[in-house]
Amino acid sequence: MTTDKTVSRRRLLGTVGGYLGATALGVAVASPQEEAPPPPDAIGMLYDTTKCIGCKACVAECTKVNGLTPDTRMSGGIWQMPTGLNTDTKNVIQLYQAEDTDDWSYVKHQCMHCVDPACVDGCPFHALRKEEKGIVTWDGSRCIGCRYCQVACPYEVPKFEWEEFNPKIVKCEFCRHVLGKPAEEGGQPEPGCTAVCPTGAVIFGQREDLLGEARTRLADTPGKYYDERIYGEVEGGGTQVLYLSHVPFEKIGLPELPRESSAHTSKKIHRFFTSWLVFPVALYAVFASLIKLNWKEHEDDVARVEAKGLKEQL
Ligand code: SF4
Ligand code: SF4
Ligand code: SF4
Repeated sequence: MTTDKTVSRRRLLGTVGGYLGATALGVAVASPQEEAPPPPDAIGMLYDTTKCIGCKACVAECTKVNGLTPDTRMSGGIWQMPTGLNTDTKNVIQLYQAEDTDDWSYVKHQCMHCVDPACVDGCPFHALRKEEKGIVTWDGSRCIGCRYCQVACPYEVPKFEWEEFNPKIVKCEFCRHVLGKPAEEGGQPEPGCTAVCPTGAVIFGQREDLLGEARTRLADTPGKYYDERIYGEVEGGGTQVLYLSHVPFEKIGLPELPRESSAHTSKKIHRFFTSWLVFPVALYAVFASLIKLNWKEHEDDVARVEAKGLKEQL
């Protein structure tokens, strides 16, 4: 015969099982996932230090195509060339000269259009987004100027207009306002910087094709390039701007980063904490159910005793 206590035990087991099942489900949902690959239509740039002659035509064209103010701050009103990325400069050519050897190299810097961008992950209002073709864009209508993107970016790319009343975040957006648009609308088939490079030091294309081109150069000229590898293929989760260099990458401002993007690491940490938070909440629910069941049994006992007129035995 089934007693009230048997029912209670069954209900208790059911309740505990249900909560533990829900907990397991929560943990499973929150478990680490693979990093997202580049979008299938990902565009990119390939910059090769051995081809760059430091003419800075790309810098001038970037300024022109993006309608930026020529940066004269460092040269008393005469436009020399900017020394680094700033709010008037989305693209810069710098010179590396080793202190103890004859090694030197030009290097081009702009946004790397990371495959899994830390700036996008860091922005609490989705002002930075990874959009069509993998271009990392900035939306002024969403930006509150918190500058988390600046802190998050491993390449120190986003710049903030401190001096402006309504400041913007400034960074290369792959000339998206003209890229691929019809010529009669002011469009062009490739970004300003790659369109004017006279030596092909920086070229534009699909990321996959550029990786193929870089691999061909590595295979054709063994020993020419540092470490026989392509920077941006995997570093920090990969980037859509790729580099070949004859000097160590870290010497030209390209940091050694783990293969996993910091954005993916932070998502995993977030998932870990949220998933383990499920356990105390589930445990609390189990204890609450136990108390409720025991209280119900106690009330039933009291009712039975009262019905038999044995109240004094309680
Ligand atoms: S280089 Fe910096 S700003 Fe550009 S996509 Fe990567 S994290 Fe964002
Ligand atoms: S893609 Fe456009 S915005 Fe970016 S560095 Fe080149 S010219 Fe400048
Ligand atoms: S235009 Fe080409 S060669 Fe000239 S500085 Fe830029 S990347 Fe180098």
